[in-house]
Amino acid sequence: MHALSTRRTIIAGLAAVTALAGASAGTPAIAASLSKSGPALPDLAPGTIPRMIDWIATRSGWNATMAPPVHLAAPAQLARMLYGDKAAADRICPTALYSIDRHEIYLSTSWNTDDLRDRSVLLHELVHHLQILNKVKVDCPALYDRQAYALQAAWLREQGIDEPYSFLRLDEFTIYTTTRCPNYY
Ligand SMILES: [Zn+2]
Repeated sequence: MHALSTRRTIIAGLAAVTALAGASAGTPAIAASLSKSGPALPDLAPGTIPRMIDWIATRSGWNATMAPPVHLAAPAQLARMLYGDKAAADRICPTALYSIDRHEIYLSTSWNTDDLRDRSVLLHELVHHLQILNKVKVDCPALYDRQAYALQAAWLREQGIDEPYSFLRLDEFTIYTTTRCPNYY
């Protein structure tokens, strides 16, 4: 099993749950159903993803990468990718995933190109793409999310959002406590 395959980040009580997903996202059945969904994000302004990648690279010092494939998937499908086939009714549905194995982004079908919060979720997942392709070293996978939230917040500030964490219905303390390595307790 991939070392990161069980990684998930659940921020309690929020809509903006994003997660890294490993092997479960690469199951052939899910991949086949997603590949039939046609071009993703048709309403996204051309150049948006490359601009986000350049912004992340400049901010982080990592190398820019090619844009990853971005798929839309129903919330139930995202939950299955994250949790596997076990019933996940009592779990929070993710709104976005990055597949470490496939180097692809999956956004919920509720994702809206006109929604700044949703666009920031896309940026968050692109951070994971650059982290993985740049082989960014972290002490534990939770720290990938801490970097991603920090860059997401910085990007939102540049879009004129003074309080990006409240805009995301998150707070910095929650992010800190959910994105630290377990051995640091
Ligand atoms: Zn994340």
